[in-house]
Amino acid sequence: MIDQIAPVLRELPSVDALLRTIEARRLLNQTSQERLTTLARSVLEELRTEVRRQASENMTRNGWRSREEFLAEATRRLGRAVESGKALALRRVINATGVILHTNLGRAPLSEAARLAVANEAAGYCTLEYDVRTGARGRRGARVENLLMEMTGAEAALVVNNCAAATLLVLTVLAQNGETIVSRGELVEIGGDFRVPDVMAESGTRMVEVGTTNRTRLEDYRRAVTERTRLILRVHPSNYRIVGFTAAPKLAELAQLAHTSGLLLYEDAGSGALFNLQAFGLDDEPVIRESLASGADIVSFSGDKLLGAAQAGLIVGRDEFIERLRRAPLYRALRADKLALAALEATLEAHARGASFTEVPALRMLAEPLAQLQKRARAFARRLHRRSSLNLWQSEIIVGQSAIGGGSAPMTHPPTALIALSHRESTAVRLEQLLREARPPVIARIVDDRVVLDLRTIAEDEESELLDALLALEEGRSQEAEGRM
Ligand SMILES: *Cc1c(COP(=O)(O)O)cnc(C)c1O
Repeated sequence: MIDQIAPVLRELPSVDALLRTIEARRLLNQTSQERLTTLARSVLEELRTEVRRQASENMTRNGWRSREEFLAEATRRLGRAVESGKALALRRVINATGVILHTNLGRAPLSEAARLAVANEAAGYCTLEYDVRTGARGRRGARVENLLMEMTGAEAALVVNNCAAATLLVLTVLAQNGETIVSRGELVEIGGDFRVPDVMAESGTRMVEVGTTNRTRLEDYRRAVTERTRLILRVHPSNYRIVGFTAAPKLAELAQLAHTSGLLLYEDAGSGALFNLQAFGLDDEPVIRESLASGADIVSFSGDKLLGAAQAGLIVGRDEFIERLRRAPLYRALRADKLALAALEATLEAHARGASFTEVPALRMLAEPLAQLQKRARAFARRLHRRSSLNLWQSEIIVGQSAIGGGSAPMTHPPTALIALSHRESTAVRLEQLLREARPPVIARIVDDRVVLDLRTIAEDEESELLDALLALEEGRSQEAEGRM
């Protein structure tokens, strides 16, 4: 056996020989010499292992015996290795899932104004901490803070890296070494490893749980107050609902208890809406202005959920406490960067001028009515069939449900028009995969053995790209099918 494979192994090209091929040299405009060498080594090692394994298991060989055959296989694999390295790159995708704040796809898509602000105002040198009126140092995020105050009625505001950071900062600065009272019904995990008890432990506040999973009364909080209590924490359960026999005190009642006991009330609002979104089925999202009006001293929420901007943690509330947060060394580690601040500023400007539903994509998507989506879906399907030369697609427009996502409003499913597609020569699983491999990748769902596309999360100017991807795929598939015959 050994004697049989030794001559075969001798035909394996060297790393240098592989790197000298035209194909490998061409790959150098996509990757560095160093990385290509590393990949070449591992490709050849992989081939060597396969030859040995096939020999020892007495399997038929793949047919590579000669140097030329080995080289051809190795260059093919080298090309694939370079490609798959790039597959991990951060790049634009078309979100056809209908999940508006898709956490894995970057949550909220930025508005046109926010994109321009990031690229044109913030990407280079900018007034991040510089006041052009005085020529002296300015305050990071000053305009965003002012807009937040205007939109929520807060005395002060502060921006950090995300809402998890906001919670950590508030608990650490305002309740470390003291006790924080929280309802057992609010000890939730939000996904991406944000767990309320863990963040509390990390901050160094002692968690005092009260009530039960489904019912907690004001009296439960009152009985838990000691001279070590600093804070009452209210957490919006976000991605989770307890329904049925439930009870929780109103925020105003908690505020009154906190203030008569010399404590602070802090609400982690999660998504947090700047205004009431009940008309779109979001019944129990805290409206930040109302939480503050009810007496919460501090409220925090995310920048990339219902606000529709960049990843950030927005903290609003009473001036003296916000200033303590700002002066804490931990704030320096958690503060927001200039790109996020630029996107937030442009998005908050849109909200402030009443353009939320026309200019901020997440809210525009949320508000798009079923009738409009049906019209778009029908027009899209017509275009697909008109342009499809091979006529391999079958489509049906069905009523389905979009989702909010981002750990928000798990019970809200805006009705939508789904384009359900099947292809005469391909399975749904294969189609879904091929769409992911398109440029830009199209992320779709499979329902009942068909690929479904939800136009709610697709901008109108992305429709042509989606159409092109489907047409290219149709042709590619039929070639593949011929190749098999
Ligand atoms: C989403 C959420 C968080 C985490 O926010 P990130 O911005 O993702 O860090 C924290 N608390 C609540 C209640 C949330 O809904």
